[in-house]
Amino acid sequence: MLIDAHFRDPILQTVQDPFLEARGLTLKVLRLDLVHPLVSGNKWYKLKHNLAKAHALGHDTLLSYGGAYSNHLVALAAAAKLSGLRSIGVVRGELVQPLNQALAFMQAQGMVLHPVSRADYRHKDEPGFKAELQAQYGRAFDIPEGGANRLGLLGTAQISAFLEFSPSATANYVMLACGTAATMAGILSSMQGAAQVLGVSVLKGEDRLSAQVQDWLLEQGQTQPCAWQMLCDYHCGGYAKSTPALRQRMQSFMQNSGIPLEPVYTAKLIYAFYSLAEQGYFPHASEIIAIHTGGLLAN
Ligand SMILES: *Cc1c(COP(=O)(O)O)cnc(C)c1O
Repeated sequence: MLIDAHFRDPILQTVQDPFLEARGLTLKVLRLDLVHPLVSGNKWYKLKHNLAKAHALGHDTLLSYGGAYSNHLVALAAAAKLSGLRSIGVVRGELVQPLNQALAFMQAQGMVLHPVSRADYRHKDEPGFKAELQAQYGRAFDIPEGGANRLGLLGTAQISAFLEFSPSATANYVMLACGTAATMAGILSSMQGAAQVLGVSVLKGEDRLSAQVQDWLLEQGQTQPCAWQMLCDYHCGGYAKSTPALRQRMQSFMQNSGIPLEPVYTAKLIYAFYSLAEQGYFPHASEIIAIHTGGLLAN
């Protein structure tokens, strides 16, 4: 069953904040976290065309990959259940009992959890690994980790339609947190009009995401994207790591705006935004749309 009718379009919510007002900045949050209570955020957009393809090919089982806190597997488990499909989650690392909230949710949605060691997980994209899974579970529609494939990009490309700036803004920015950067690449592939897109990498170390975005844009035939940049200084120690400054920003933003954040992605986005604003990065009368990519359920 196709489930698109269960989803609503995201809203743009303006954040009232004296600090921003004093600098002449407008911050709006695109609430992808509200598109569905269980299949929320950017993960729905990455999944929707994958689900349609699985449906068109007559599959009854979805299979994908992720860590023990994977927002992608959480969304996939719920979307599969809504669609009447079976789902298998290949989970990196052993299943520690009692299961954490994310894994318990996946299981409650009917997902079969298939744990593999970290060493084996590295081989997950190899034919031998996939053949073993098929021998155990039968034919399944295989979706890569994070939903980061061409069909995923087709879905995230739709997000740009919701990015509406006020005509009075002097400069427009879009900011979002990036893990695989498939969401950012999808948005860049379809952005109309003048805005700068700033990705906030949640990963530590060398910037591999910029090259990844470039590859995807070429693959999509997008040779003249709007200005974009991957910011690599706001990972706060690395994936799922945290600092007191990050936690403080997350708390004060949630309290002031009433918008819930999670520490792995969206808190780092907001942290990066305020850090840039404090440094005077945005010209007076700029409008910034921060994309809330969801992820609240697993946290
Ligand atoms: C997965 C996820 C991201 C990262 O999306 P990519 O397309 O992999 O860059 C960002 N925010 C949240 C809440 C996520 O769950």
